[in-house]
Amino acid sequence: MSSSYDAIILGAGIVGAACALECARGGMRIAVVEGDVVGGGATAAGMGHIVIMDDSMAQLELTRYSQLLWAELAPELPEDTEYETTGTIWVAADQQEMEEVYRKQAVYGQQGIVTKVLDRPALRKMEPNLHPGLAGGLLVPSDAVLYPPCAARYLLEQAVRHDAVVVPKKAVRIGNGRVELNDGAILESQRIVNATGTAASDLTADLPMRKRKGHLVITDRAPGFVRHQLVELGYLRSAGSSTADSVAFNVQPRKTGQMLIGSSRQYDADHKEVDRSMLVRMLQRVQQYLPGIADLSVIRTWTGFRASTPDKLPLIGPYSDDPTIFLATGHEGLGITTSLATAKLLMNYFTGSRSAIPLEPYLPSRILLEAQHA
Ligand SMILES: Cc1cc2nc3c(=O)[nH]c(=O)nc-3n(C[C@H](O)[C@H](O)[C@H](O)COP(=O)(O)OP(=O)(O)OC[C@H]3O[C@@H](n4cnc5c(N)ncnc54)[C@H](O)[C@@H]3O)c2cc1C
Repeated sequence: MSSSYDAIILGAGIVGAACALECARGGMRIAVVEGDVVGGGATAAGMGHIVIMDDSMAQLELTRYSQLLWAELAPELPEDTEYETTGTIWVAADQQEMEEVYRKQAVYGQQGIVTKVLDRPALRKMEPNLHPGLAGGLLVPSDAVLYPPCAARYLLEQAVRHDAVVVPKKAVRIGNGRVELNDGAILESQRIVNATGTAASDLTADLPMRKRKGHLVITDRAPGFVRHQLVELGYLRSAGSSTADSVAFNVQPRKTGQMLIGSSRQYDADHKEVDRSMLVRMLQRVQQYLPGIADLSVIRTWTGFRASTPDKLPLIGPYSDDPTIFLATGHEGLGITTSLATAKLLMNYFTGSRSAIPLEPYLPSRILLEAQHA
């Protein structure tokens, strides 16, 4: 094994695996350093909803771009990735939320994203198990779901087919073109990509990121119980809040026939254990929307941590303090969706080629300089 590479990717979650494949496919000599199980971090905990979100124009552009990349890749994804274009229905509880449905439709429409407004009868027809009192919703047919750890494994396997080398070690120190591993070995590159998710701050100083805990629940099989990913319109409010603990109705039908139930958000809860009070709040919320779900059995519950930044956008690109370090982290609750676009943007930066969307909104310098100044 040579110790010098065109790029070294730290972390083989979905983001690191996507970056490794993009760079290896572009002809670069790549090493991927993973200290644990491939796709076993936040990627294994995530819901796998490939979703367009519009908290900001930058988020809308990144999620849309990446969703198109997933759709392009879909035909080659293996069966165990469980990729399925289920579409999302953003569910409106009342007439006030229907206003939000029309606002969202207008914003998506300006970007050429096809959506369909559902009134109460149309919603009922599409999802008969939803509460009959709900006002309607917005269908986004292009949204999809997949099983993230298998997707990460596949991306990495493809990178290896393009001669990427996987180094099953932990990086303990990085900088000045060098990566020191936990066995004392040194790898060298002028491009070290820190894609270690919530652990990124252990290797790179001054990253303004916080861990944001989430709970998920999976039920036994009930094929057809819901047919689309269902999310309450208040979800963005919940995801956008930077203080309070929150829960939002969010249910995904899996290819297995199981229902994956989300989701919660908590800051300053660093332990992995399931927090029963959050779980109860989450399950109460889902029953308000899907009363019949109470008849299904819970098979498993788990938690995971999102890497969140102050402006809810990822950190993609050069790290200002060291020209050999690049970041691909801070994807919060959208890293599965935006992994492929992250990899393209990074590769475009490395090669100096024009990217499909501007990189500027995601450059680490936008908040690193501010944080260092503060
Ligand atoms: C409950 C929950 C639900 C979610 N739902 C969705 C969703 O529906 N859609 C969506 O798009 N996103 C979702 N997300 C977000 C998504 O899961 C993450 O944004 C994404 O998985 C981040 O991927 P990553 O590769 O950056 O990090 P990770 O998957 O955490 O990968 C980082 C990797 O780095 C490795 N590592 C760490 N330190 C070192 C080191 N020093 N040396 C070597 N390796 C190291 C780790 O072992 C790990 O494998 C959800 C997240 C949670 C918690």
